[in-house]
Amino acid sequence: MTITSSNGFHLRPIAKFVNEVKKFDAKVTIIASNQEVSALQVPKILSLALDSGDSFELKVEGDRAKEVSNHLSNFFKEIMADDTKTEIAKQEDEKYQSDAIVGHTIGGGVGVAPLIRYRVKMSIDTKNSITIKEAIDLTKEELLELSKSKDKNSEIFLAQRELLSGEPFNRDFKTLDEFKSTIKEEIDKLKDTKFESRISDYRDLEKSVLNHLGIKSRLELPDTPYILVANDLLPSEVEQIAKTAVEGVILENGTLMSHASILLRSNNIPSMIIDTKIKHEIYSDVIIDANSGDIILNPTNKDIRRAKEKKKRIKIEQSKSYANRFMPTITHSGKQVKILANVTDIESAKEAKEYGADGIGLLRTEFLFGKRKPTLDEQIEAYSKIFELFEDITVRTLDVGGDKSLPYIDIPKEKNPFLGIRGIRLSLREEELFREQLLSIFKAHNGKKIKVMFPMVSQTEEFKKAKKIAQNVAMEYNIDISNILFGIMVEVPSVILALRVFDKEVDFYSVGTNDLTQYLFAIERTHPTLKVDITSPVVMSALKIIIDNTTKPISICGELAGVLEVTKELVDMGYSSLSVSSKLIPSLKDKIRLI
Ligand code: PEP
Ligand code: MG
Repeated sequence: MTITSSNGFHLRPIAKFVNEVKKFDAKVTIIASNQEVSALQVPKILSLALDSGDSFELKVEGDRAKEVSNHLSNFFKEIMADDTKTEIAKQEDEKYQSDAIVGHTIGGGVGVAPLIRYRVKMSIDTKNSITIKEAIDLTKEELLELSKSKDKNSEIFLAQRELLSGEPFNRDFKTLDEFKSTIKEEIDKLKDTKFESRISDYRDLEKSVLNHLGIKSRLELPDTPYILVANDLLPSEVEQIAKTAVEGVILENGTLMSHASILLRSNNIPSMIIDTKIKHEIYSDVIIDANSGDIILNPTNKDIRRAKEKKKRIKIEQSKSYANRFMPTITHSGKQVKILANVTDIESAKEAKEYGADGIGLLRTEFLFGKRKPTLDEQIEAYSKIFELFEDITVRTLDVGGDKSLPYIDIPKEKNPFLGIRGIRLSLREEELFREQLLSIFKAHNGKKIKVMFPMVSQTEEFKKAKKIAQNVAMEYNIDISNILFGIMVEVPSVILALRVFDKEVDFYSVGTNDLTQYLFAIERTHPTLKVDITSPVVMSALKIIIDNTTKPISICGELAGVLEVTKELVDMGYSSLSVSSKLIPSLKDKIRLI
């Protein structure tokens, strides 16, 4: 198995995997770097430090070894595909009069309030008489309950539960010191490793077990607004903070990818990590501007006014854009721009409707069906439900390969999967699967005007072949597809150099700037260290060349389409259709109305 997620094989996916292994009566081992560890032991798997691109061997022994091994390898591919990259906020410029401590943004937003330092209040309940083992079991039960919530972050609690289910904790602890020193041993193993941020998970577990034993510690928080400064936080503490009047959180020692940081972001708490320590003084009004990355400990009155106004503006902008989301999107000079949504399934399509999308600019069908191959009827039903929601629909045929796997398609292992059999190349190789997908789309369209788009096309021959297959399918099943348009993603640079030839064949284009950028710079889009600015002048210039050299309808559906800093430039170039994640739609529409 190869680690395809750019985040590596980190705690949450490991916990999910171990949890799946537990369902089978088989001995499962993971072999990597000449080490063999049980696939039931989260800390041992963690210690292998498997990074993006690394591989391991899965050894399964038992009666149904083959079946279990197939299941687990598919399951692994799914968790890798689901493990999306954590978005890091982009910081903007903001000038305050007073000196600022500059930091890294965890979650955006602005807060103004007195600063308080992290303080924990301890209390001991002497009536408590359960054993340490019972307290561990209670903690595990509690974490299991939390992990069942529909929230994506519930995986954090599953991961913590797995840590506590590991070998070191499967015994009868005679004394509390024995338990505490086991926790300490696990923590020491993580120090100075890339898993250091997991230390807080062990601390959280310790806190929870002690809590069940009657030794309670609780973060002391005021009822009034405050900004909290702490060395680091435990995930459970963020949950506690989120329920209070918190204006911001400053961590002096955290990491952007820790579970506490993930929770701070998802709870919309303005939060930052700084490299210095804040002295123990009483600061009355402090500013945290996580949008610009500034913390002002001693702001002037003008700074405070400015920050408060900014905070209000952000709030008003968010609610105003949202209220205007169904209004027409026309620039001052009268250009109408269509704002479409990138969706993956019926839920996200409904969300797009809610956020005011004018249609679907990209239906990524590879995420529609998940684990097993859907039947034809299931496919027809899924497409029909989505097609019913909008008048303007672009459905992209399977775009599998590269970093996207599909458990039921066996993609040959390649040295450079991003340069190999992916997108349309795979569909042309797996023709039966492709024909079935086209048939279900055709049956679902019911005469409606829809667009069918092929991904990763690099030569006109590929488009012609794909369209021919589509026409044959329609003919064989006697379906009228005269209302269906056929187009391609522009995401391989060769297309830019052959636009005039493509123009004779295709009905429309949509620029996939995500892949186009990786191919223009020869930098893999999931590369852990090499990064490209998605708004690079090179990409902007490619977009200009594209629009200047085609007469066909064109849209942009890569991430760049939602970056407000370049919206004006894109509209000025002539792009009049942008497809973005649903939540960006209201603010993008407002931005265009100001052009
Ligand atoms: C793209 O490449 O820009 C795109 C929109 O497609 P995906 O991200 O699904 O590859
Ligand atoms: Mg793409």
